[in-house]
Amino acid sequence: MLIRNAQLLSGTIADVRIDDTRIAAVDRGLTAGPGEPVLDAGGGALLPGLHDHHTHLLALASSLESLRCGPPEVLTEEHLEMRLRERAAQSDGSHADWIRGVGYHESVAGDIDRAWLDRVVPDRPVRIQHRSGRLWIVNSRGLAQLAAGAGQPGTVPSPDHDALAAGRLLDADRWLRERLGGQPPALHRVSARLASFGVTGVTDAGARNSPEEYRHFVECTARGELQQHLLVMGDASLDGAADTGSVRRGPTKIYLRESALPAPDDLCVSIGRSHAAGRAVAVHCVTETEVVFAISALASAGSRPGDRIEHASVAPPDVLSLLAEHGLTVVTQPNFVRERGDAYLADIPGREQPWLYRGRAFLEAGIALAAGTDAPLGDPNPWFAMQAAVDRRTLGGRVLGDAEALTPEEALALFSGDPLAPGGSLACITAGIPADLCLLDRPWAAACTNLAAVKVIATVQSGRLSWQRI
Ligand SMILES: [Zn+2]
Repeated sequence: MLIRNAQLLSGTIADVRIDDTRIAAVDRGLTAGPGEPVLDAGGGALLPGLHDHHTHLLALASSLESLRCGPPEVLTEEHLEMRLRERAAQSDGSHADWIRGVGYHESVAGDIDRAWLDRVVPDRPVRIQHRSGRLWIVNSRGLAQLAAGAGQPGTVPSPDHDALAAGRLLDADRWLRERLGGQPPALHRVSARLASFGVTGVTDAGARNSPEEYRHFVECTARGELQQHLLVMGDASLDGAADTGSVRRGPTKIYLRESALPAPDDLCVSIGRSHAAGRAVAVHCVTETEVVFAISALASAGSRPGDRIEHASVAPPDVLSLLAEHGLTVVTQPNFVRERGDAYLADIPGREQPWLYRGRAFLEAGIALAAGTDAPLGDPNPWFAMQAAVDRRTLGGRVLGDAEALTPEEALALFSGDPLAPGGSLACITAGIPADLCLLDRPWAAACTNLAAVKVIATVQSGRLSWQRI
């Protein structure tokens, strides 16, 4: 394939020839061979394909199939009823197909329950998740289907009688998963969506990824359902997982929660085990206590290249120097500045606000910095995240931590680089590198004025077009 008239980041216009999975030549005036497909870039910027360094593919796939049931899309009881009835009317005829809702909040219609749902949708199984993630509200059809289960005897205790009677199931995810039969969702839609943003690689940050999820990812890739290169984090059960095609085993994900921190020695043992298995660690830290706890464990267990802190949401100056001292990488979410910034400005003490989801300060401290969207908790569009890294603007139009602003090129580099060593510099498009590319609808200088407005017109994945805007 030949891409003509593309603008490289250096500003020069060039033609780029792709041979099989690699770039064969970058030059001016390349002519198409017989039968060679040609894509005219019209001066649009041609960039390395994006890599989302922290996302949750299975949850994102499920959320794409789900009905939004709360703010900002749904604000009133009437609107929620209408959406549910519309979805129920799109029946596949079997009436056994679940309607899965997400994001419910009581500001819409109060503490809705089984009876409320039965009145709106009597003849299809419905389950709606509260936006806290802890509560499911289920109708009678749904409860009957769950009682029938997947035909196996249950090993997880059932919710109590009152919860079932009301159809309000709190902290019952494991029971639900077992009763629903646990088929992991298909990935073709999520893969196509990511390709439309120019994403050619993702890191799945699931802490509970096990050989079962790994196999699912490998199978989806083999079927062509998942096109992106994939790095899979997970627990110790993935120590023996072999890289298969474009699916690779990633770091051990360690999930810290301030309210239930492990014994420091136990954390050191987990880190040591992971390193001995040839895996870095990725430690989830959203509070200052968590990040300090993680760094001190890494200091005593010994850190290795690729060890990373996920989120590092709050990073006061002493944390910056500790991160730098131990050579740790930070994988941040600039999109949370945009999506959650207004709530942070209202709820977080003013003293701490400059330390939230920092950008510039990490780079100045010499810390390797990369980004992921944390979808579906965050919007999966990395261009929104990049623009937030540049302008630090919330959805409400306010600014959070303006001293942390990055240049557009630095923001782009956050979503680039080697997934096993995130936080490097931007790759140059030259002969010999893998043909994972994204082509923008405008030159880079125009894209820089508002990265959130960028449209990707074509995405090349391993030398083949995986997305083209028509
Ligand atoms: Zn996450």
